Amino acid sequence: MALIVQKYGGTSVANTERIKAVAERVVNTAKEGNNVVVVVSAMAGETDKLIGLAHQISSNPNEREMDMLLSSGERVTSALTAIAVEALGHKALALTGRQAGIITDTVHTKARIERISGERIKKAIDEGYIVVIAGFQGVTEGETEVTTLGRGGSDLSAVAIAAAVNADLCEIYTDVDGVYTTDPNIVPEATKLLRISYEEMLELASLGAKVLQTRSVEFAMKYNVPVVVRSSFNYNQGTLVVEEDKDMENVVVSGIAYDKNQTKITIVNVPDKPGIAAKLFDAIASANLVVDMIVQNISSDGKSADISFTVPKTDSKKALDVTEAVAGELGAERVDKREDISKVSVVGVGMRTHSGVASRMFKTLADHNINIMMISTSEIKVSCVIDLKYTELAVRVLHEAFGLNG
Ligand code: ASP
Ligand code: MG
Repeated sequence: MALIVQKYGGTSVANTERIKAVAERVVNTAKEGNNVVVVVSAMAGETDKLIGLAHQISSNPNEREMDMLLSSGERVTSALTAIAVEALGHKALALTGRQAGIITDTVHTKARIERISGERIKKAIDEGYIVVIAGFQGVTEGETEVTTLGRGGSDLSAVAIAAAVNADLCEIYTDVDGVYTTDPNIVPEATKLLRISYEEMLELASLGAKVLQTRSVEFAMKYNVPVVVRSSFNYNQGTLVVEEDKDMENVVVSGIAYDKNQTKITIVNVPDKPGIAAKLFDAIASANLVVDMIVQNISSDGKSADISFTVPKTDSKKALDVTEAVAGELGAERVDKREDISKVSVVGVGMRTHSGVASRMFKTLADHNINIMMISTSEIKVSCVIDLKYTELAVRVLHEAFGLNG
C-alpha cells in the first residue's frame, strides 16, 4: 500500500463540477489500494479576486490581515473537496494549515515552513480518512497567527506534507500534461519530458516554465521527495521529477527556457579602478534588489568600463534609481535602461559531461542574426540575453538545433 499526496491547483478545483471530478480521482486512487492525502489551492482566480477586494479598500493593506483574507480561499476548496469525497461514500476530513500542524515563521504573505507535525494527518489516515488539507497556509509557533507561503505556495504545502508523512509520491495536478522541452505555444514540436532532475526543473521553473513553484522544487530536492506533474483533465502520464541519474546525463540538453521579465541596466563610462563594482552592487544589495546577470566591458584604452546587469522588470525602476544615485559618485557618464530584452537558456545535466553546448548555442543564434548582449553559464545551463523581439525565433531555432523537435 502506497501513500500518495495529490495536490490540485486552482483550475482543477475551479468550480463544483471540477471538484466532483477531483473527488472521483481521489477516491479511485484510494480504491486502487493507496492512502491518499489531498492538498488543494483556492478556486482559479479566487486569490487574485481577494487581493483585488483588499485593494479596493486600501492601497497598502496590512499583511497580517491579507493572510487572514487569502487563507480563506483554500479553506473553501478543502471543505468542498471533503464534502465531494464523502458524497462518493468515502470518509474525508478537511484540515486547515493550522489543524494539519504546518508551522511557519512569522513573515506574513511569504512565510517559510519551519516544520510540520504530521501526527494528526497520520492518525486520520490510520482511521481510514482521505485527508484534504488547505494549501498555501500555515500558522506561527504557538498557533497565534495565520500565515501564507507566497503566491503559488500550495505546491510547497504539498511537497512539505509529502516529506512530513514520508509519502511515496507527491502528484501535482495542474492543467498541463507535464513539463515540456519548451513552451508548446512557441514550438508545437515540443515534447513532454517523462523524467527530469530536480536541478533541471529548478532551472526551468525559475526561468519561466511556470509549472511548479520554485521553492517547492528546492524543498523536494532537499528532502528527496519524488514529484509528478500531470493534468487533472486527462489520464496521460505526467513528468516525474527526481534525483539525477546516469541515464539523464546521456541527454545533453533537456529543455529551452525563456524569460521576458528582465531589464538591463548599464552604467556607462565608469573609471576602471578597484572598488567600482563593489560600490555599485553594495548599493544594489542594500536596496534588496536581486541581480541575475552581470557583464563588464573595458574600453580599448583600458581607462573606463561599462557595467551592465539585469533585474526582474518589476524592480527596474528601483534599480535605475539606485544606480543613478551612485553614478555621480562613481564618476560615470550616464545610466541606460533597456526593457526590450529577454533571456533564453538551454538547460541539461548532460552538459556536465558533454562539451560544445555553449558554442552550438552561440552559432545557432549567429546563424539567425540574433545578437547576444550578455552571457552567463552554470554547470547545467547557458543563458543569453537577446533582443525581446527575437525571443520566439531564438527558442524555435535552439529547440531544433539541440535535437528536441519531437
Ligand atoms: N491560491 C494561491 C495563489 O493563487 C496559492 C496557490 O494556488 O498555490 O497563489
Ligand atoms: Mg500553481
